[in-house]
Amino acid sequence: MSFFMPLFSRPAALKTLRNAYELIGELTPLKTNCGKLCGGACCQSDESGENGMLLFPYEEWFYRKPIDGFAFHLADDDSLYKGGKRLVCEGTCPRAYRPLACRLFPLRIRLQSDPQGVHTEVIPEIDPRAWCCCPLPEQGGLRAMSGDFIEAVKQAGQQLIKNDDMLEALYNEQRLLDEMRKL
Ligand code: SF4
Ligand code: SF4
Repeated sequence: MSFFMPLFSRPAALKTLRNAYELIGELTPLKTNCGKLCGGACCQSDESGENGMLLFPYEEWFYRKPIDGFAFHLADDDSLYKGGKRLVCEGTCPRAYRPLACRLFPLRIRLQSDPQGVHTEVIPEIDPRAWCCCPLPEQGGLRAMSGDFIEAVKQAGQQLIKNDDMLEALYNEQRLLDEMRKL
């Protein structure tokens, strides 16, 4: 990537992310606060204290300054794309500053293209990483989740795939998870 590329790509990526945030808005996996079921398990640290949520391309731009009431740091993480970042938090945050991955969880966006690669379908699915900490996959899975939330995740995915950086990150995540599933 050239030095100047981010100057052109970043505004479009940030607009796409803001659109995705807005589409999900205040919606959560259940109509009631699912954090009460599990004590907010997905926000707790593991024993390393360095687990966190992978950020989408350029999303770290929203975290370049300290945020009141939100203790976090960014770590380098090339899992999804070169130069990627992971947000490591301390278990609480203001909703307005939640990274996209947290807003989607315990779902993720699966992409399915037709053989010609002309049409890409966005399919919200249970994030395989949710099985280890979230009770929802076992408690009815998608069927038990709010239809409005699932639809919002789908619409957010449809926004994301209009942006090449997001599309690449989503495909890379898919490849990574598919490889993990094979292990
Ligand atoms: S672990 Fe699952 S049920 Fe618990 S707060 Fe997170 S998304 Fe909700
Ligand atoms: S950023 Fe917020 S929602 Fe995401 S894991 Fe940390 S405390 Fe939970």
